[in-house]
Amino acid sequence: MSALDDNWFTEIAQGTGTAFSLRIRRKLADEQTPYQHIEIYETTDFGRLMVIDGCTMVSSRDNFIYHEMMAHPVLYTHAAPRDVLIIGGGDCGTLREVLRHPEVGTAVQVEIDERVTRLAEQFFPELCELNDDPRATLHFGDGIQWLKDAPADSLDVVIVDSTDPIGPAEGLFSHPFYVDCLRALRPGGMVVQQSESPLLHQKILVDMHTTLRGAGFGDVRTLQFPQPIYPSGWWSATVARKDEAVAGLREADAQARPFETRYYSPEIHRAAFVLPPFLQALLAAPS
Ligand code: SAM
Repeated sequence: MSALDDNWFTEIAQGTGTAFSLRIRRKLADEQTPYQHIEIYETTDFGRLMVIDGCTMVSSRDNFIYHEMMAHPVLYTHAAPRDVLIIGGGDCGTLREVLRHPEVGTAVQVEIDERVTRLAEQFFPELCELNDDPRATLHFGDGIQWLKDAPADSLDVVIVDSTDPIGPAEGLFSHPFYVDCLRALRPGGMVVQQSESPLLHQKILVDMHTTLRGAGFGDVRTLQFPQPIYPSGWWSATVARKDEAVAGLREADAQARPFETRYYSPEIHRAAFVLPPFLQALLAAPS
């Protein structure tokens, strides 16, 4: 739910007693698609802002943190990430970060709502600058169905860059979806999924760990990073590996990365997986 009062956009984070506001200059786009309500604003201090169903998605100023942390930790942990699937991610920022890795051979983005991508091309062209890379395929459809139809042992990494677990994204947090992920991943394959605020959405985090383990993933870990425009300003992604933990950060490769990053570094990679005691206790696997 959102409220536009004078020149402020406000996202009320339902059920949390919190809200976040950005001062805006004007509204640039407003569309109701078959899937969701998309708005684009020009803000005074955060550049452009994309909002879906009243929830902030992307701002020009801080999206680099989210997109780098959705792509680089998993790609520098997997031993040889060649074939990558992104589910959701229609703003194309995660896709751009994935394509910066020369070892990635194919990157397929399956976004349910083509309008998200078309508006991103218009208002966030910097996020879409690698969309024409020959390794990239933009497919518009339901990621749940796409993965159900995917051949077994065909992917190395699945990145779930979705909206909150309501509406079309609800099934992306479910047991059948994770079983399909596991089937489509090759040995050593990994999935990473945005997993909401470590402070405000603890039930979602715990359920995700339980459901991923229940589906058969061998190792499940959460990483954390700041995201100023999301509820609480603190966000997480959860990484699961098809087999038991066999390798950590590819330190030398991450150190020698052939592209610039603004948030990610090997040090940040290691630090992001260090959880404070209350999260360790919350996410401890039942023995
Ligand atoms: N960074 C954002 C966040 O955490 O708030 C997510 C950004 S991205 C714009 C989320 C995308 O997931 C949306 O464009 C939405 O259309 C897409 N999406 C939701 N459910 C989906 C599904 N079942 N299959 C494919 N895409 C889906």
